[in-house]
Amino acid sequence: MAESETIFARILRGEIPCDEVYADELCLAFRDIQPQAPVHVLVIPREPLVNLCDAEPRHQALLGHLLLVAARVAQQEGLSSWRTVINNGAEAGQTVFHLHVHVIGGRPLLWPPG
Ligand code: AMP
Repeated sequence: MAESETIFARILRGEIPCDEVYADELCLAFRDIQPQAPVHVLVIPREPLVNLCDAEPRHQALLGHLLLVAARVAQQEGLSSWRTVINNGAEAGQTVFHLHVHVIGGRPLLWPPG
């Protein structure tokens, strides 16, 4: 599937709604539709990167920005502990092929993940 057809590309184009928690010129953060914890937010770049394999040195600042926004969102949600996850590829659990950082918290989290 072309990245332009992913559900997140459609959210970015405003074609389908999302429960937005943060937005700026580089990224958008919204609540996961199938939350795995009391807080489950996705931070996505506006630039259509498939995943980290798609990232190049020119994306260094953007990738850092996504992590800073993840921390900002976690704090905004009142979390003092949380987990960030980036599933990279189908075998790692990636189902939407537009890069996204999961911000998960609000309950004790087990390690290692499944
Ligand atoms: P991943 O499995 O890492 O690719 O994560 C994709 C995430 O996107 C899953 O946690 C889904 O629940 C979530 N998701 C899929 N469609 C939507 C949507 N329309 N709005 C919000 N989250 C979504």
